[in-house]
Amino acid sequence: MVTRRPNIVIAISIVLASAILAIAVWVLAQMRDDALRRAQDSVFNVSLLVERDVSRNLEIYDLSLRAVIEGLKQPGVLDLPPAIRQMVLFDGSASAKDLGSILVLDTAGNIVFDSQSTPPRAFNLAEREYFRVQRDSPNVGLYVSHPFIPKVHGKDVSIALSRRISRPDGSFGGVVVGTMRLTYFRHLFAGMNLGAGGSMALMLNDGTMLMRRPYDPKIIGRSLTGTANYSRFLLQPSGDFFGTAAIDGVERWYAFRHIDMYPLILDVALSTRDIYVEWRRRAWIIGTLIAALDVVIIALALLFSQQLRQRRAAEEELRVLARTDGLTGLNNRRTFEEHAEEEWRRAQRNDWPLSMLLIDVDTFKGFNDLYGHSAGDDALVAVARCIAQNVRRPGDTAARYGGEEFAVLLPDTDETGATAIAEKIRAAVQALELRHVASSHHVLTISIGIACTGRQVFATSRALVNAADEALYEAKDAGRNRVLCYPVAARADRRSAVASPAQ
Ligand code: GH3
Ligand code: MG
Ligand code: MG
Repeated sequence: MVTRRPNIVIAISIVLASAILAIAVWVLAQMRDDALRRAQDSVFNVSLLVERDVSRNLEIYDLSLRAVIEGLKQPGVLDLPPAIRQMVLFDGSASAKDLGSILVLDTAGNIVFDSQSTPPRAFNLAEREYFRVQRDSPNVGLYVSHPFIPKVHGKDVSIALSRRISRPDGSFGGVVVGTMRLTYFRHLFAGMNLGAGGSMALMLNDGTMLMRRPYDPKIIGRSLTGTANYSRFLLQPSGDFFGTAAIDGVERWYAFRHIDMYPLILDVALSTRDIYVEWRRRAWIIGTLIAALDVVIIALALLFSQQLRQRRAAEEELRVLARTDGLTGLNNRRTFEEHAEEEWRRAQRNDWPLSMLLIDVDTFKGFNDLYGHSAGDDALVAVARCIAQNVRRPGDTAARYGGEEFAVLLPDTDETGATAIAEKIRAAVQALELRHVASSHHVLTISIGIACTGRQVFATSRALVNAADEALYEAKDAGRNRVLCYPVAARADRRSAVASPAQ
């Protein structure tokens, strides 16, 4: 079935190619989702890890501040020798890397105790934010300050964690403050694997940037208020989303979280480019291969269908050649006999008349002898044309029956109709006026014998042919260039039997 319909081959190949393409697209979409999911997981994990580290360190530092406050409340601590008092008030954690000194300030902001110096360094810190906030409101608890450069060591940008010292009557008794260098966060961020375009940031709740990776000192302390990402950070305690950084304009997948108990927000982000870079590489390879495969499939199908089409055309040509007569282009005898058999049965079935014409060129041997075989062939072609021009109804069949003999089959045509057509053919041949000096008519003529099932009963199609042949024989006998119907009346009546030629 496929071999008979070349277009089906193309259609199948297109369906196949589309199916392969669809599967590839589906697989690539899955791979893309997986890439995003992996990135989401890794960003989430990093944010969790950093949050734990930060909150744990702040907690430990806060515990140190509380320990100082508790220590100060103990009776007798103030009377201890300075070295012992240092040990009682300031535990070892205060000396950890990236942590500055812990200071106890009096109500005027002067340093009373200093974890790193005895006697304390002489500074007044009353103007510092961490002092003012604690002095002005009693219930702040732990206060995390904006970034600043401490007076005490004066180098690294730090934040301060302060707690209020309350007297037994609740009044302001000073401040305990510890500083933390922002390099702590910088080192913490640097240790995380985030890809080339990844970013991390820690900010105060009010949007003040404390640290960012990639590191840029100019960004520290800048306010993010009003940026799209910061606005989203404020909506939930934690979450994730696709966003574009106001700082560098890079699109990233963000995971953010508010650090438990502290006024801090952490965000960790992987750039969309990094997330999909590997996927994109694979998609290119797979996409190219699939496209090539599809092109090959369709090209092969086109080639195959073209071959099929050519084969079909060749077969059709052969079929036509096998059916037609090479010289005249009419049906050949074999085809004619098949048709005759078929039409015979149809006529029997439907009880309609079937007429058969046998046509023979008159004294053709003489024509050949006079004008040559080639002129004879031309004459046969001309005769065939006369026949074809007068036998035009669908179902009618004209054929070259033998050398200079032709046959015509006229289904559903009675004797009157058949005779009219035969006469037209005969007249047409005569009208060609092909000179034939050996003929008594001086031009080439034909004789036609007709047999019709309407008038006579014939047992077989063969019998019908024989009857037409007999009528033809009679026509020859009667002088040629005429049409006679079977059965032919007695010779004496012949002139009146059928149409007589114009002589
Ligand atoms: P009539 O039928 O009138 O009795 O005479 P005739 O000369 O036509 O009779 P006959 O059947 O003896 O001759 C037929 C001639 O037709 C013989 C042959 O030379 C010629 N003929 C048959 N086939 C072809 C052909 O294909 N080409 C040519 N040029 N001549 C052919
Ligand atoms: Mg003959
Ligand atoms: Mg003849």
